[in-house]
Amino acid sequence: MGVAMENDERPEAPAEKPGWLTSLEIARQALRCRARRKSDGGQCRGPAVSGRPVCRLHGGKGGGPRGSRNGRYTHGYHTKEAKAELKQMRAEMRELRELMRAGEDVF
Ligand SMILES: [Zn+2]
Repeated sequence: MGVAMENDERPEAPAEKPGWLTSLEIARQALRCRARRKSDGGQCRGPAVSGRPVCRLHGGKGGGPRGSRNGRYTHGYHTKEAKAELKQMRAEMRELRELMRAGEDVF
């Protein structure tokens, strides 16, 4: 990944109704994509999607909705949270089993 950039600053639109030329100027001031080009490793420089540091081609819109908002969501066993909880529980079980094994040697 690239260097972190402040990406919340957008140019403000003028008060009067802008002509197409001014609109274009405003559009050109949009923040630039910070991803690297495949061809030569240079910066992409495409216009960044609002609220994201990268352009539409570099994952600016990325992914489907999370959790129950996703149409494929059925029971939540495979959510990031559920998997983290399972991992934690397995680690605790492993620790307990090791303690029990250590206890067998003592008695
Ligand atoms: Zn890009």
